[in-house]
Amino acid sequence: MDWKIRRLKMVEEQLKSRGIDDERVLKAMGKVKRHEFVEEAFKIQAYNDIALPIGYGQTISQPYTVAKMTCALMVEEGMKVLEIGTGSGYQAAVLAEMGAEVYSIERIQPLYFRALKVLNKLRYFNVKLRLGDGTLGWPEEAPFDRILITAGGPKVPEPLLDQLKVGGILIMPVGKKKREQNLIRIRKERGKIFEEDLGPVKFVDLIGVYGWEN
Ligand code: SAM
Repeated sequence: MDWKIRRLKMVEEQLKSRGIDDERVLKAMGKVKRHEFVEEAFKIQAYNDIALPIGYGQTISQPYTVAKMTCALMVEEGMKVLEIGTGSGYQAAVLAEMGAEVYSIERIQPLYFRALKVLNKLRYFNVKLRLGDGTLGWPEEAPFDRILITAGGPKVPEPLLDQLKVGGILIMPVGKKKREQNLIRIRKERGKIFEEDLGPVKFVDLIGVYGWEN
């Protein structure tokens, strides 16, 4: 199986052809071994144009969705990025590949351990993982240049807004109904929050103190 060929085909046919034009995002997604982040039975589908199950009712997002969110985040090398919802660890690896210093939180223990293992195996040493409720953020490491929430909640958790740097960007799927959200981009300026709607998305639930109830 030539994974590299499949991966580069994914970049051409699913990302470039749909208007993803940030070369750094395309390069990173052309490098990260997505097939390592899914279970054996799904490896063959790893570069398909779909989200895939990762167990415990959770998913690894469709490659296009990862690309769209990563572009919207406007990450630069050396930035401190907080991700909520490590899941498989794939999105964290894409951010790490772009040179970010990544902090990622997952609430489901077996997913946390699996992501820890694969990120270590692939030598992504610029990713730090934590097990817990990501809606509370990672106060000891705040403030963050960028915050990415990869699960959908009813509103942006207050602690995450507090932990975002002035001048920082936060991306989150927000919706009053479960599994129906709009991707929201927030820019924090001195004393002001600017909000943009980047269109409809469908994410699994953000569960926690500042998310949905379990
Ligand atoms: N970014 C992941 C990837 O690259 O595989 C995909 C994330 S998946 C769509 C959403 C993840 O968010 C799930 O693994 C879920 O357990 C996690 N999650 C939901 N609520 C959370 C919370 N409060 N704190 C941390 N993780 C949470």
